[in-house]
Amino acid sequence: MNALKVIPVPFARDNYLWLISDGRHAALVDPGEAAPALDALQGLNPAAILLTHHHVDHIGGVSELLAHYPSLPVYGPRKDNIACVNRPVEDGSKVRLEALGLTLQVIGVPGHTRGHIAWLGEGMLFCGDALFSAGCGRLFEGTPADLEYTLRRLSQIDGQTKIYCAHEYTLTNLAFARAAEPDNPKRDRYAAHCEALRKQGQPTLPTTMAIERAINPFLRTDSASVVAAVKAHCGAHPADAVACLAVLRAWKDVFS
Ligand code: ZN
Ligand code: FE
Repeated sequence: MNALKVIPVPFARDNYLWLISDGRHAALVDPGEAAPALDALQGLNPAAILLTHHHVDHIGGVSELLAHYPSLPVYGPRKDNIACVNRPVEDGSKVRLEALGLTLQVIGVPGHTRGHIAWLGEGMLFCGDALFSAGCGRLFEGTPADLEYTLRRLSQIDGQTKIYCAHEYTLTNLAFARAAEPDNPKRDRYAAHCEALRKQGQPTLPTTMAIERAINPFLRTDSASVVAAVKAHCGAHPADAVACLAVLRAWKDVFS
């Protein structure tokens, strides 16, 4: 197996685009701005752009990148109808990036947007705004049932899988996680670790699925502490995981 490196390229306030590279070729995930992507590509041959959903902070750099590299394949979710996508994919698609020797599987993860997809392969998951460390994306287009479907699917991924989210939201998510699941010592240790990383200017990402299953309240609707906090917040015991997620997501939307 070739040694692929995945490099975070920060831009805007708290976005990351991810550069997957073998030292000669590179793929870009969610290049929301062209300038930082072009800088990161210095000395590398771009092989592909991979998109997760249609929001401008994820696709905003693509047309300028295509002006520089007109034949670059741009893979993105068919259902999100993105004009600059020239290789539409959907849940179940497989994409082989020959230049990188990398095959990625497409997983439909609706909720944040209707067509949102994640890219999975070789122990890596690029999930855009579907899942964050200690949190998840807002439900702009989907329902709590979509979110439950998406998070249940993602949580079944191997625990060692590295998760490359598109935003550095970890510390604010952890503040909410403390309210949504007061009793979680593993989460407290993880929060201390992430705070130290941010103090040094380091990303908290990638995370892993094992970490997220242990600390992310949105993946822990069966935790007694989460259920009790949800009940205290809305006054009723959540009937099921969908109801629990509906309360958690709406609560997080107004939490500060
Ligand atoms: Zn988004
Ligand atoms: Fe975003």
